[in-house]
This record gives sequence, C-alpha cells and structure tokens, in this order.
Amino acid sequence: MSKKKKLSPETKNAQALHHVDAMTGALSPAIHPSSTFARDRNYELINARHDYGRDDNPGYVIAEKVLAELESAPAALLFSSGSAAAMAVVQSLQPGDHIVAPRIMYWGWRNWLIEFCGRWGLGLDLFDATDPDALANTVTPGKTKLVWIETPCNPTWDIIDIASAAEIAHGIGARLAVDSTVSTPVLTQPIKLGADIVMHSATKYLNGHCDIIAGALVTAKEDEPWKCAREIRANAGAVLGSFEAWLLQRGMRTLFLRVRKACESALTLAEHFEGHAKVEAVIYPGLPSHPGHVMARRQMAGGFGGMLSIRVGGGAEEALKVAGRCKVFTRATSFGGVESLVEHRATVEGENSPIPRDCLRLSIGIESVDDLIADLEQALG
Ligand SMILES: *Cc1c(COP(=O)(O)O)cnc(C)c1O
Repeated sequence: MSKKKKLSPETKNAQALHHVDAMTGALSPAIHPSSTFARDRNYELINARHDYGRDDNPGYVIAEKVLAELESAPAALLFSSGSAAAMAVVQSLQPGDHIVAPRIMYWGWRNWLIEFCGRWGLGLDLFDATDPDALANTVTPGKTKLVWIETPCNPTWDIIDIASAAEIAHGIGARLAVDSTVSTPVLTQPIKLGADIVMHSATKYLNGHCDIIAGALVTAKEDEPWKCAREIRANAGAVLGSFEAWLLQRGMRTLFLRVRKACESALTLAEHFEGHAKVEAVIYPGLPSHPGHVMARRQMAGGFGGMLSIRVGGGAEEALKVAGRCKVFTRATSFGGVESLVEHRATVEGENSPIPRDCLRLSIGIESVDDLIADLEQALG
C-alpha cells in the first residue's frame, strides 16, 4: 500500500496550493477590482461568497488559504494593515475587559494600544518579557480576556515562550494572540504551540518587497471571536485593496527563500560583529549570549529571524554617525524586505523610547552577506 506523502509547506507555498485558474488555466491569479458582484435571475448571488467588495474579495482567497495552511490553521483573514488586523482582535473585546501585553514590543502598536484602551474603557497592563514570571503575575483571573504577545519582541528580540503563555492565558479563561510578524510562519507556528490567534503585519516578510501595507489574522478555531473579527473587517471597512492582495500573494511565493537567506545572513553578521572593537553588543536570538537563545532554539525552527540590533556605544550621536555612513544598508524604517535597512529606533520613537540611544536596528535582506558586513565595517570606521 502506498501512502500519499504530504507535501511540505515550502512546496505548497511556492505553488500557492497548486493554484490554476479554473476559467482560463492561468497560473497567476486575476486581480478583481470589482466593488460589487452580480445576482442571477432568481436573485441568488452568482458566487455566494461575493456580494460587495467591503465584505470580501476573490483576490484574498489564495493568500488566506496559503497562510492558513502555513500556520496549520482552519482560516485566515487579510486586512488593510497589520495594525487593522490587531485592532480587530482588540475591538472584539467588551468594555471593562483587561489586556496584558509586553512592555517592549512594536512601538507604534504599543502606544496605540495604551491610548485606545484608555479611551474605550479597556484595562491594560504591560509586563517585562525578560522576566519569565512576569506574565503569570500580570494577568488578572476573571478580568484578563486577552494576552497579547510578540516574539521575538521588537527591537530587543526578547523571546516569549508561546506554549507557556498559552497555558497561563487559558488557565484564567483568556485568549492568547501572538504577533508573529518577525518570526514568520517559516520559523514558528504559534497555533501549534497553543495560540488562539496569530497576527502578521504582512507589510513585512509575508509580502517581502516594501511595496504594500497589509495585515493578516489566522485563527485556531472558527469561533465567535473569529466571526467578530471578520465582521469588524467587513463593517468597519479595514479591507485590503485588490491590487495589494495580488502583490501579497505573489510576494508570499518566495517567503521561504527570503526568510532562510535573511536568517543565514543575520546569523553570519551577528557572529561577525559580536566582540568587534567598535560594537558594545550584538542583540540577536541566534547568539548564545542572547537571554532568549535557549527558548528561541526550542520555538523557532530553521533560523532565528532576519532582525538584529547592535549597540555601537557612545550614545545617539555615534549611532547616527554609523547609520549615516552606511552605503549598502538603506536608512529607513520597517523591515522584512529584500533590501537591508538600518534604523535608529530611538530617533523614530522619540523622547520616551525605552530603546538605548546607541542602538541600531538592522533588517537583513537577501543581498550578499559579504557586502553587508563590508558596509557595516566601513560605517563603524
Ligand atoms: C509593522 C508592524 C506592525 C504594524 O503593522 P502595519 O502593517 O504597519 O500596520 C505590528 N507588529 C509588528 C511586529 C510590526 O513590525
């Protein structure tokens, strides 16, 4: 008896689940800009899924199916941005509900969450992700309904134990949401570790080319909160444009290649600059010196991500000088694209930033790692 061998996620992703357009035979899917969808003579929708462009778009189907497959999940939803996706999770809570999230995480989302919770009557407490007991001590049984984590946490790359966070959340009847933007489904599948919901800023690695803003949610179950998130997308209108959805499904085809190359180069770079005379510290979960290294080995498979930070010493002035001398790295915010970027987070985050002022965040792309190392060497002077 021959058992059919299951295809690897890499194959399924490259082929977008072997997509061929049924009507034309086209390998590349069509773009559907239509805002509205016709009904037949009996007033039935010609395609029951498609009625009006704010509810859904035929161009979402492929990327959502592939993403759900990569996360071993039953369903995914695309959103107009990562923030809109995250917001749909928060808006599915009730006033008075309590949220717990890490003190250091993606700055824009952290600040918005603080502001939004204040304005809309949601409780919020932040915990120190470097302290393994902090999460359990921060949740409030009976009140906490959502534990929000990000791992690796931007830009210190703290690693949070997803399985243990899930246990803590479920123990008090809360749901666990994981912002897995930095890890990508190539390295970590949070649902397999017990997460209820996974969020991606698809602007980053999923699309991979710095040319769209997009987001996604993936769910462990098609339960009530999931239906609520779908309704929020449709009714609050956080919908992705059809062209952006097309770019996303195309960018995703090369996800594994891009992420693997970025991981390999990031590790090479991290190892090269650790102990360098002009570098105070290299912060990368792939280095044994990183406090989250052991956990990262357990929960990230095939690499430690394409993001790292270096502390150059000498404060903001010195760090900015180094960034200013880079010629191969581009000075820009965001990450996860094919081109490497350098960013001084403290400048971007402003006065109250918890990020050391001598810290530069690096997003490693798919260029030759030798060129990247040489560029940083000359920039460090
Ligand atoms: C960029 C980012 C977001 C926000 O996503 P947008 O697509 O910019 O709205 C959220 N979380 C992380 C980790 C991010 O890097």
